[in-house]
Amino acid sequence: MTENAPRQSCCGHAGDAAEPLELLQSAPAAGSEEMAECPVMAGTTVHKATAVSKGLYRDFEGTRYYLCCAGCGPRFDADPNKYATAASA
Ligand SMILES: [Zn+2]
Repeated sequence: MTENAPRQSCCGHAGDAAEPLELLQSAPAAGSEEMAECPVMAGTTVHKATAVSKGLYRDFEGTRYYLCCAGCGPRFDADPNKYATAASA
């Protein structure tokens, strides 16, 4: 009977030092160009592509604003100047 030990390397290293860095970069970080802050709910980050795909954005005075949820659309429409100013401040 032959004993196979596939995890055992010839030089004795355990092999736990080769974590791929890609895993740490898969999630978009706040502050990147892919993310925006919802002007209605300050402090809420919005993934731009996701917001656009759901129609959760408004174009106002040449600037596009991304909204975090459907509830923010009517609120932005009701007083766009207020939210546009707050977002650019
Ligand atoms: Zn919202």
